[in-house]
This record gives sequence, C-alpha cells and structure tokens, in this order.
Amino acid sequence: MDIDDASHEGKGEETKAKRIVVILVGAPGSGKSTFGEQVMRSSTRPWVRICQDTIGGGKSGTKAQCLKSAASALKDGKSVFIDRCNLDREQRAEFVKLGGPNVDVHGVVLDLPAKLCISRSVKRTGHEGNLQGGKAAAVVNRMLQKKELPKLSEGFTRITVCQSESDVEASLNTYSALGPLDTLPNGYFGQKNPDAKIQLGIMKFLKKAEVPAANAVSEAKSIQSSFSPQSIKEMDSSSNGPVNVSSFPENAGDITRLYSGGGLSCNVIANAANWRLKPGGGGVNAAIFNAGGPALEVATKEQAKSLQPGRAVVVPLPSNSPLFSREGITHVIHVLGPNMNPQRPNCLDNDYITGCKVLRDTYTSLFEGFASVARSQEKLAKGSNENHGPNPSELQDHTEGVNMKHSPNNDQKSKREGDHDNDRSKKCKGSQDEVGADIHGSRTGKLEKNNDKIDGSMTKIWGSWAQTLYHIAMHPERHMDVVLEISDNVVVLNDLYPKAKRHLLVLARYEGLDCLADVRKEHLHLLRAMHDVGLRLAEKFLQEDASLIFRLGYHSAPSMRQLHLHVISQDFDSKHLKNKKHWNSFNTAFFFDSVDAIEEVSSNGKATPRDDDESQLSIELRCHRCRSAHPNIPRLKSHISNCRAPFPPALLQSGRLVLAPCNADVGP
Ligand code: AMP
Repeated sequence: MDIDDASHEGKGEETKAKRIVVILVGAPGSGKSTFGEQVMRSSTRPWVRICQDTIGGGKSGTKAQCLKSAASALKDGKSVFIDRCNLDREQRAEFVKLGGPNVDVHGVVLDLPAKLCISRSVKRTGHEGNLQGGKAAAVVNRMLQKKELPKLSEGFTRITVCQSESDVEASLNTYSALGPLDTLPNGYFGQKNPDAKIQLGIMKFLKKAEVPAANAVSEAKSIQSSFSPQSIKEMDSSSNGPVNVSSFPENAGDITRLYSGGGLSCNVIANAANWRLKPGGGGVNAAIFNAGGPALEVATKEQAKSLQPGRAVVVPLPSNSPLFSREGITHVIHVLGPNMNPQRPNCLDNDYITGCKVLRDTYTSLFEGFASVARSQEKLAKGSNENHGPNPSELQDHTEGVNMKHSPNNDQKSKREGDHDNDRSKKCKGSQDEVGADIHGSRTGKLEKNNDKIDGSMTKIWGSWAQTLYHIAMHPERHMDVVLEISDNVVVLNDLYPKAKRHLLVLARYEGLDCLADVRKEHLHLLRAMHDVGLRLAEKFLQEDASLIFRLGYHSAPSMRQLHLHVISQDFDSKHLKNKKHWNSFNTAFFFDSVDAIEEVSSNGKATPRDDDESQLSIELRCHRCRSAHPNIPRLKSHISNCRAPFPPALLQSGRLVLAPCNADVGP
C-alpha cells in the first residue's frame, strides 16, 4: 500500500503534513465515536472517522473494508480515526501497518471503568453497532476480558491512555488543537501503571474491593471437595459479568453439552436467567432451556415463578430432561444478576454501590445453592458407600421407574442387578438440605435455608430421578394417563414395574411426607385413608380373581420420594422381580405392614422402621410361605409358583394378609 504517495504529489502545505492514524482502543461505551466526532468538529486538520459498524454502506462491515478505506483516506492526505474496539494486539496489527515515514500511528486508549461503559451502552439507543440494552453488559464484560493494552513495540509512535473522563478531556483537547502541520511527541502517555495488563473486570474488581465478595469466593472454595476444583476455579476467576455460565468449565465449550461435547461430568450448571425464569433471549438462558426441554420449564415453575436480582433458585432436574439423561446434570441453578435495563424490574439506574451489592448477593446465592447441592451429593455418596459402596456413577442410574435412555454415567445400567441395588444407593439418610429451595427467597412450600438450619419436615435427600411419585401426587391432573384414582388425600396408580400380578401404589397427597419416617400422629387419618383405599382396591381385585392374596405396606427406606403404600399380590409372578433386593424388600422386615404402621403411629406417635439399614435386602432368599431357602431368583420363582404351604403365623395375624373369604388354604 503506497500511502506515502500523497506527500510526493505536491499539494501545497498539506504535502509537508504528517498524517496520523489514531487507533482508538476501548470497550463499547468507552466513547470512541464521540472522541473522533468531537475532534473532527473542532480540528483544522482533515480527519476521517472509519467505523466498522457503519462502513458497509451504513451497516456493519469488515476489517478489510476499514483498512482499505483508511489507506485511501491517508492517500488523500487525511488523518484517520480507526473507530473499532481494537482491544487486542491482533486486532490492531494491520492498522498499525498503515504507518510509515509520513504517517504516525497513535493509540488512544479509552480505558474507562467497566461500569461506565456498561451503563452508557445499556442506555443508548440507535447505536451504530446496535449494541444497546440488556445484551450490552455481557458484551462489554466479555470484550474487556480480552483487552490487551497497546505497547509502543507494536509499532505505535505515540500511545495515550485515558483512565478517567478528565484524561479523555485532556486528550480530546490535544487532538482537537492539532493543526494540519502539527505533530505530537512520540512516547507513552497517561498510563499510571504500564505493567497493568488490563483494567479489572467486574468480578476481579469486586473481589478486591469488597470483603463479602471474598467470603463468597471462600465459600465456593469450601465446597471444592465436592466438586471439581477446576469448576470452582473457573467460577472463582470469572470476570465475565454476573454469572458467566460459559466460564465454567470453559474447556468443555457448550454448557449444554458438557458431557456429550466435552467429556466432562458435571452435576450442576448455573443459568444466567431472566427475571421471569422463562426460556428465551439469545444467550445462555435460551440454550439451557432449550437443552433442558419442557421438563426444565415445568420443574422451574414448581420452584419459583420469578426471581429478583441477586437471588438464585435451585431446580432439581427431572429425569426426563435431556440435560439429565444425556449430560448427567442433576440441578440447574437459575440466578439473576444486577439489572441495568430500564425496561426490566429493579433497574439499577446507575447506582453502582447497589449494583455491587446485588452482584455480591448473586454470587453468594449461586454459591449457596451450589454448596447445598454439593453437600447433598456428598452425603449421598457417603451414605451410598456406607451402605454398599456403589460406584458413584450409579447415583445417576435409577430404578426402572426412571426413563434413563442414555445417561453418560449409565454404563453400568445393563449390568445392574436391578432397581433396589440402585434405589438404595441413591438415597441419603440424615438431615434434609435445601435443594429445591429458593435461596434467600420466601417460602415456596418447599425447604428454605435459614441460618444454616434447615427448616423442613423431610428427612432424606432425593435425587431428581426419585421424585416422580412426588410429582404425580402433587399434580395428578398432569398425569391422568397413569393415575387410577384421585381423592383429597391420595392418588392411586399401578406400579410401573409391578413385582407381582397386581401391584398398586397409593400415594399420599401431602407435601412434606416423603416416607413413613415422616409420619406423625396427626397423619393417622391419612394412613388409615391410604389403607382403606388399598384394601378396597385389593378386595376389588379379589372379586376378579379369588386366588390372589394381598399385602399392604411401606418400604422402610423407600427409593422414591413421597409416602406411598404398596398394595401387592403375593404371587410375585412378574418379570420385573429380578433380584434379591426386589424380593427381600417385600418379604423381610424391610416391608412395614400398613396395619402395623397404623398401630405404631397411633400408640407411639410415629412408626419406627424396624430395619432400614438395608441389611434385610441382602439376606438369603426364602419362600414367603414355607420359608425354604433358595440359591437364586429363578429357583425361588419356580418354587413359589407351586408352593401352597401356609403363610407364617405372623402374616396371618392382624389382617396383614388380605384374601378372599373362600381362600381357606393359606393358613396352617
Ligand atoms: P419404594 O420407593 O422402594 O417403596 O418403591 C418405589 C416403587 O415405585 C417401585 O416398586 C417402582 O417399581 C415404582 N416406580 C418407579 N417409578 C415409577 C413410576 N414412574 N410410576 C409408578 N411406579 C414407579
């Protein structure tokens, strides 16, 4: 490019003029265009502003177009403002090459606080590059992360760094005063700390300036043991806006394909949600809701309908969400950062102090939600190891009741013995944590974190895979395809994986009653109602087939959340009965007869599971009638299909067995 031709063409005074290329460097909203325009208005030197946002005939164009246009302006003897962000060395390199013996290359860096750039970008309308409103903040933050201050060694003859509006003013005056023949001294001006790589991003700024933010970070560190140190590190060092979902973990790229795309097992993802907790927008929120499918929408609605800035809500992912089944994500934490868009509620209106507080709250809420899930999963893993030391991958595996099409952690599925192996490993005994709660939010009918004390009646942690019965009980109208009966107290349905010819579940329609251990005296009427419904249905079946015998009862440590009564025929003639744990869960002390539960709650105020430590599940296989031992399930099944021995006396007492009046041969 022979730009220097202009100096040989003999155009009077101007031929002696050194032209200048001023490469403006700064984030959107830093004032580059204003700078160029103001200089051009007052300067006697001929200037051209070359703006990439408008170079394509008023529309956004390419870098090549900018270069071409700059070269031609220089050739015409004009000085040039290169008005694009030019934040990194690579972006600047080709413009620097426009310099030569008669063309000086200057850098003017508008290194203003991010908050100022953001608030200007958010508020402006009719911006040339259409960067305004809600999306502007994210873009500014993202761009600032890439920023590399220019160095003279890149080929600049002069660099001026403006870090405040008064610096900008001074620089404006300098350039505005430049006559056609004037030159400016070479060198590096204005940068207070030339070694500073970039201006601090918002997060880094907060970490430095705000002690509570450091607390939030240290809290994140405290949960490192439960989560990958890498993911915590990524969160910790994120400087990309309130919740930079894409920053953890960057190495996996698309947050909705962490496992399938990046091979990364990740349980929890954060979503920079909108205040209505709805799908939409063009960014991460849309991508996560898309990937989570309708199940994520429904699950989100169940937790909260909207979110205030600074708040987070933890949403356990239902097993039918592709994010769960494909990626192994068990929870999505929706968070809402500070809002700078005047069209949305709680706009900050330039209040930076409140903005910092809201941002700090946002991270704290996110980390608290994260920590709650971490604690739950830690307990879950611990509980599992104590019980039968499963491979942690089994935590993702589930009973047959969950439709696990292709879980990344599901390699063991085909090998598993059967659902109770897995059921028992997913459960966690101990205190309930606040998973599912709106952190800091008001009570949602679910659990809430309150000064580290968990206020709630539930006593176990349930993975999202174990919530199906709960959802059916709470919203039977959404499950009319499977529901047989609904009343005020109960919902009845067929067990999806019946372990006998007839196998029903009677679900309690009460929030907070996950299992028998949660039942208290005030629930006695409910236990009775459940029993009565079970009895009525068993009797109905007996009318159809008098040879059936029923038993009604609860599993001492159920695998599925929501108090449910099993109504099961004693033939155990089912292809779904596959293993020792299936058998023993219905034929040992692990099975708590409904009549006994009613009796215990009525006299002791609660039903104490006799043996919920699962030792019962692994004892030898014995016929429930004659008590003969059998080496494996096929042999046991073959035996019970013919065994007509009387039932043990204990079962014949107190109405534990329900049989047709004509069925007399069951006793001794
Ligand atoms: P438990 O929680 O151990 O008392 O047993 C849970 C029962 O729920 C098992 O018998 C499963 O076969 C059954 N089950 C699992 N998923 C479903 C479902 N989606 N619908 C109906 N029954 C289910």
